[in-house]
Amino acid sequence: MSHLRFNAVEAAFKRKAIPVVAPAKNVSDYYGKYVFSVSTMSRYLSAEVMDSIQNAVERGVTLDSSIADDVAAGMKRWACELGATHYTHWFQPLTDGTAQKHDSFIEYVGMPGENIIENFSGKLLVQQESDASSFPNGGIRSTFEARGYTAWDPSSPAFVIDDTLCIPTIFISYTGDSLDFKAPLLRSISAVNKAATAVCQYFDTNVKKVFSYLGWEQEYFLVDESLYATRPDLLMTGRTLLGHESAKNQQLEDHYFGSIPSRVTAFMQDLEYEAYRYGIPLKTRHNEVAPNQFELAPIYGETNLSVDQNLLIMWLMKRVARRHSFRVLLHEKPFAGVNGSGKHNNWSLGTDTGVGLFTPGKTPEENLVFIIFLVNALMAVYKHNGLLKASISSATNAHRLGANEAPPAIISAFLGKQISDVLDKLENSTEEEAILLDEKKRLSLGIAHIPAVLLDNTDRNRTSPFAFTGNRFEFRALGSSANCSSAMIVLNTAMAAQLTDFKTEVDFKIDCGKSVNQAIFEVLKCYIKTSKPIRFEGNGYSDEWKEEAMRRGLDCEDSVPKIFKSYTSAESVKIFKDMGVMSKTELKARNEVKWEIYTKKLQIEARVLGDLVLSHVIPVATRYQSLLLDNLYKIKQIYSEEKSSELSLMDGALVEEITGHVIALKRNVDEMVEARKVANRLENAYDKAVCYHDTVLPYFEIIRYHADHLELIVDDEMWSLPKYRELLFIR
Ligand code: ADP
Ligand code: MG
Repeated sequence: MSHLRFNAVEAAFKRKAIPVVAPAKNVSDYYGKYVFSVSTMSRYLSAEVMDSIQNAVERGVTLDSSIADDVAAGMKRWACELGATHYTHWFQPLTDGTAQKHDSFIEYVGMPGENIIENFSGKLLVQQESDASSFPNGGIRSTFEARGYTAWDPSSPAFVIDDTLCIPTIFISYTGDSLDFKAPLLRSISAVNKAATAVCQYFDTNVKKVFSYLGWEQEYFLVDESLYATRPDLLMTGRTLLGHESAKNQQLEDHYFGSIPSRVTAFMQDLEYEAYRYGIPLKTRHNEVAPNQFELAPIYGETNLSVDQNLLIMWLMKRVARRHSFRVLLHEKPFAGVNGSGKHNNWSLGTDTGVGLFTPGKTPEENLVFIIFLVNALMAVYKHNGLLKASISSATNAHRLGANEAPPAIISAFLGKQISDVLDKLENSTEEEAILLDEKKRLSLGIAHIPAVLLDNTDRNRTSPFAFTGNRFEFRALGSSANCSSAMIVLNTAMAAQLTDFKTEVDFKIDCGKSVNQAIFEVLKCYIKTSKPIRFEGNGYSDEWKEEAMRRGLDCEDSVPKIFKSYTSAESVKIFKDMGVMSKTELKARNEVKWEIYTKKLQIEARVLGDLVLSHVIPVATRYQSLLLDNLYKIKQIYSEEKSSELSLMDGALVEEITGHVIALKRNVDEMVEARKVANRLENAYDKAVCYHDTVLPYFEIIRYHADHLELIVDDEMWSLPKYRELLFIR
């Protein structure tokens, strides 16, 4: 009897919702309490210091050390009032999540052993040497020069968690190469600001800055912790490597937007209270399509801040889930046969004068700006579709993409009928019409009449990885566990490069004597034609689309290690370099890291799978088989030969079926181990990742097939791993 599993089921089943109490009546009473926001800062820092920080944030000016001391002192005073005794530089290494090393504020004054004071200097705030030499660096930091630095990002507010002041930082090597997500993200944000502002200046010289905005939607699963604890695969890899589909899963579509189970509601409330304390404006929560799958989304914000908030929320989710005896699964595909989890990145650009550049306006001129940004976004996505795919690819997200629930491993853009019509008209317009706009500010091209309330009226295409949704693009292909930066770096860099090209072309035409509008129209018309292959309004899940996309010349590669190669193509290297985001060395090093992580994830999964099969599945199956054999033996003893052969038909067939699966399991696990050994001998990170993809990964499906069939025939009482129906329906 499988006591562990049934005990876990019983414990999970009996659990009740844990009541949560709101910190205060109104959210505004405690919102952002643990964040050193601008308004909080102004209470702890002088006006002069505030100005310097503002300067540092807006113009990237380095703070001088006396100012840094003042900031540190104010920050420490605030943090200590909230109970902080430690501080940490909080950074985003190339692995998942965030990293931190806590140091106490204490210091000796005078001789060691004498008096202790609590101190936090500007030097400690601004920069620290990271003694952790074991972060992935792709060879940038050889061991003899293993120094890395974390440096304060003043544009992202510090916060206090428990007893620790957390200071968001970038992480760079001794040679200045970035070893994290934040440094290139900040550079890409600054590049798109520069390029977009220059384009805005054609129309409004008051525009001095363009912001990149991000609103993420985070999907996740919740599983009861006692069930989780009895699934070594969930524990070690974040997903179930085995498990037969349950009879009912999501086919009735009764979970999506359904009433939220009470234990889950309590978790969500608790999480929201936490989020509000950290100034994360959570707005939406609902059930997702798969059983036990949910989603949350905040109000969008400036991209750098929004990324930090997403990382913080993923961490908070894990922590709060434990208080409710849940485990949160951020893996992209924890369960076969039901939807996986993604993260939708709603992305837009907006000016410091308050204009959304992907928002249709009220006047023809505003709409022209809108069309310029829209068409340039299409061009950027068209030119760099392979790179964009690389930015969202990972070993874990690969299980989701291409399956019938998420965008395929091909990037295309969806616009909806109304906007498509406008672009078609524009493409076929005559030169006179273009000039007409100059004079009369009116145009029959349709761009004068785009309703600003298009927003929620845009037809939704859930199968598109990059969909225009009225005032933003929704990049839907991201994995639920990803750092949003990866995609945002590429998107902002590609857009910056594209807008820069656009301006060069327009300026050239102006120099040749064309009017601004005429020049813009000519370039746009050409872009609309060129970028056409990226526009796709049909069903992204269909097989025809794959063939069609291939004909259109879009990147259709679906092997993750090969997809990463897009990062170092000549075009990619050029835009990253031209936009000042990353050097070729950095790109190469980061790919090394990606391949290494890919290989390691598969290696771990292969090991866990082998263990599960050899130490759970096969022993249980043979134990059951031996019961059947015992029964057969007894039948033979009791009945006549004729009668016994009739009575033993079923048991006999089952014994053979089990034998067949067990033999297949053992053989395939052995072969998989051999394949792993061969792959492990390869030196080169790329070759190794490709080898894992091509020769180890295929065994996962085969092994699973046999194990899942055994799960169906073996006595339920003997089966030791919680089944899908238990994992997905107990809440
Ligand atoms: P849906 O599920 O319909 O896509 P949600 O409400 O779940 O919508 O999420 C939409 C996300 O898009 C939210 O985070 C929202 O704040 C964000 N968003 C809305 N407008 C913009 C914009 N202009 N730029 C970036 N993000 C935006
Ligand atoms: Mg949504």
